[in-house]
Amino acid sequence: MHTLDIHNPATGQRLTTLAADNATSVAAKAAAARKAQPAWALLPIEHRLGTVRRFRAGLVAEVETLASTLTQEMGKPIAQARNEINGVLARIDFFLEQAERAVADEHVFDGGGMHEQISHVPLGVVANISAWNYPYFVGCNVIVPALLTGNAVLYKPSEYATLSGQHMTRLLHAAGVPAAVMQCLVGAGAVGAALLEQRIDGLFFTGSHATGQRIAVALAPRLVKLQLELGGKDPSYVRVDADVKAAAESLADGAMYNSGQSCCSVERIYVHESIHDAFVQHFLATVASFKMGDPMDAGTYIGAITRAPQLDVLQAQVADAVARGATLHCGGKRGSGPGNWFEPTVLTNVNHGMELMREESFGPVIGIQKVRSDDEAAALMNDTRYGLTAGVFTKDEAAARALLARVNAGSVYWNCCDRVSPRLPWSGTGDSGLGLTLSTQGIQTFTRPKAWHLRSP
Ligand code: NAD
Repeated sequence: MHTLDIHNPATGQRLTTLAADNATSVAAKAAAARKAQPAWALLPIEHRLGTVRRFRAGLVAEVETLASTLTQEMGKPIAQARNEINGVLARIDFFLEQAERAVADEHVFDGGGMHEQISHVPLGVVANISAWNYPYFVGCNVIVPALLTGNAVLYKPSEYATLSGQHMTRLLHAAGVPAAVMQCLVGAGAVGAALLEQRIDGLFFTGSHATGQRIAVALAPRLVKLQLELGGKDPSYVRVDADVKAAAESLADGAMYNSGQSCCSVERIYVHESIHDAFVQHFLATVASFKMGDPMDAGTYIGAITRAPQLDVLQAQVADAVARGATLHCGGKRGSGPGNWFEPTVLTNVNHGMELMREESFGPVIGIQKVRSDDEAAALMNDTRYGLTAGVFTKDEAAARALLARVNAGSVYWNCCDRVSPRLPWSGTGDSGLGLTLSTQGIQTFTRPKAWHLRSP
């Protein structure tokens, strides 16, 4: 039998062992989804909205259990796990409010005996291969609108967040989604690869650029609709006129929240030379207030690093930066004891010759670089293969808008960072991905437009 061990990254202890999928069971699940999907799509949308309302109620009723499981399997501090589950409710509310309108028929022309309309038809069977860092957010971004618009979902949660994925699936079934319409696949990359072999009508992926590229290559010959939400190296610029303390506090949180393991974590900071030293002082004071420790403790801010191999990446980035002349102000090393820990780390005197300023860190490590002008900051912000988010801190709205218009990123921020809104599209440019989730377009993306040319007799 295939199995998957689930470990607690904060302690290294095995939490449980799950029965895992294999190529045969994945094929059987895909066939069942294919068979069940048409009946699900034919139900009135009110029925599907009702199941999602009950799913939402299930999340509310079980928030403590769900948060505790999430913390234990991926090391996220318990307060942040509760925030994630409570935060996903707002996304679900948005989908509940907007789904019917987003996929309503559009009557676009009447004239000369012709009527033209657009309908939005479900894709069919969609696969969702997901990341572990925000399993409720990235899972529900796909699962909820996909189900609401009449698709069946084959959902492979990350091997580092499988228990949370199983909880979501259980709650959806309890809410009335047929078992074959919403199925969870248990396993690591090989199970994801087996899913790509099935007849699917869309693949919605959240994860690293390397895996996303592999998936794009695997699916290319079959022209399957593909969405990729990948990594980033998200910059923020603190302009000469910024509120230095407020910017430092906001950016320290943006860099270190979820232990720096967010796709939109602040990964690079540029500060005008005239306020650089004051900024660094406030930034370090804020980081010093972040308590690292037992993720189950309500006061913990920095939890465990979910994947052990990432510790080597973080250590190598710090070593490379220091070897090239960076100044290490705090952290820079693994935490002691069992489990995966990395101390919150701040470096200055950094530049783009360093890995730290080029490649995704995905941990509580940040470089702060001094700049002399808006133009230099804009050039540095765009000096990346990624393009997920970018931000500017300034009191001058016109300057902020002008800078943000020049930056290549899917989302841009003025005086804020590390923020996602259900009302706005979530997308990346360059190696940060293809397609989008959230917003009304993130509902329509689970459908294809069908063009109707109707001539009255
Ligand atoms: P990952 O690429 O290691 O894994 C993602 C998923 O792909 C997992 O479910 C994994 O089992 C599966 N997988 C691995 N190999 C596969 C294969 N050959 N075929 C099919 N599936 C395969 O990424 P991760 O460590 O889970 O997530 C971290 C990354 O995700 C970071 O780069 C982060 O920035 C990114 N991310 C992006 C967003 C976004 O919205 N843009 C959101 C969250 C995370």
